[in-house]
Amino acid sequence: MSAALLQVRDLRVTFSTPDGPLQAVRGVDFDLPAGTVMGVVGESGSGKSVTMLTVLGLTQGAQVSGQALFEGRDLLAMSAAEQRKVRGARIAMVFQDPLSSLHPHYRVGWQIAEMIRAHEPVSRAEARRRAVELLAMVGIPQPQRRIDDYPHQFSGGMRQRVMIAMALALRPRLLIADEPTTALDVTVQSQILDLLRRLQAELGMAVIIVTHDLGVIAEMAHEVLVMYAGQVVERAPRRAIYYRPHHPYTRGLLESLPARTGLPGTLPAPGRAGSAQRQRLRPIAGQPPSLIRVPPGCPFHPRCPFVMDVCRREPPRLRPVDVNGSHESACWLPPEAVGLGAEADARRRAAAGSGRIQPAEAGWGAA
Ligand code: SF4
Repeated sequence: MSAALLQVRDLRVTFSTPDGPLQAVRGVDFDLPAGTVMGVVGESGSGKSVTMLTVLGLTQGAQVSGQALFEGRDLLAMSAAEQRKVRGARIAMVFQDPLSSLHPHYRVGWQIAEMIRAHEPVSRAEARRRAVELLAMVGIPQPQRRIDDYPHQFSGGMRQRVMIAMALALRPRLLIADEPTTALDVTVQSQILDLLRRLQAELGMAVIIVTHDLGVIAEMAHEVLVMYAGQVVERAPRRAIYYRPHHPYTRGLLESLPARTGLPGTLPAPGRAGSAQRQRLRPIAGQPPSLIRVPPGCPFHPRCPFVMDVCRREPPRLRPVDVNGSHESACWLPPEAVGLGAEADARRRAAAGSGRIQPAEAGWGAA
């Protein structure tokens, strides 16, 4: 695997509110190797979008600390002008709602061409030629004609393709897609994901997909970060997340996926194959915590079916739960409590049932 293109270290983002400081991101670390796909998953308010917006320098009015090293330079230490140069040219972003990103008064081709001309000294004719090429690349039929259409003349899926074309206009090394398919129906969602997958492979860029739905990244992600209450609570290669989740929150996200015949691609409906019971939709009980008053200990403890005494007292940190250290979980359950289904449940309950497990017993030391 290539060297890290993006390294995020101890990222913290706090907003001032009338009720007190809101800790939206609380010490996030990750490495993104060049040319790979990372999925960042969590419910609303987990801090996933704020993390990415902060990396891009788009968080307004927040107190930010930590580092976001992109190609060795700290994005958080750059001036606004330097950040603007990196944004668009080296790192591009696709948002959930293309209508709010595309200007309704300008033709789509003009918007793509202006994006190119803002960063590169090319003629209008050359920028337009590249815009046509980009529209063709993202699968817009008759791009020579559609280039002069306005955003409202495109369907939702086609608008998202236009946004992707615009994001790729300057051949970025990193594309961040924040809920890129949430506003689309299932068929179009699948087409957009196919497109992203194809473009990622063809262009060799790194991609971060931010989503609340683990199903969205089931085919694409090399690695998955699961976020809860502003922290990464589990990090693992894709297959480990889907088939051997450790953190009860990850398991809850998998169980709450709508029943389908199977997740796309090679991964058959994790957590659902087998018993009829597991085919029922099982939402995670309770609500995510307020980030103004985060619960002590493990922030998931008020919702966790495996909560132990230690969970209410001591915050667990990310620690390896496999032999090679590629799978980490911030949970006091022992490493062997991985997996889905009744057997894994029994292991978790055995660990949690006594309520006597201590950090030292788990072999991890106090957090
Ligand atoms: Fe549940 Fe405890 Fe693990 Fe938190 S640390 S997820 S409360 S078992």
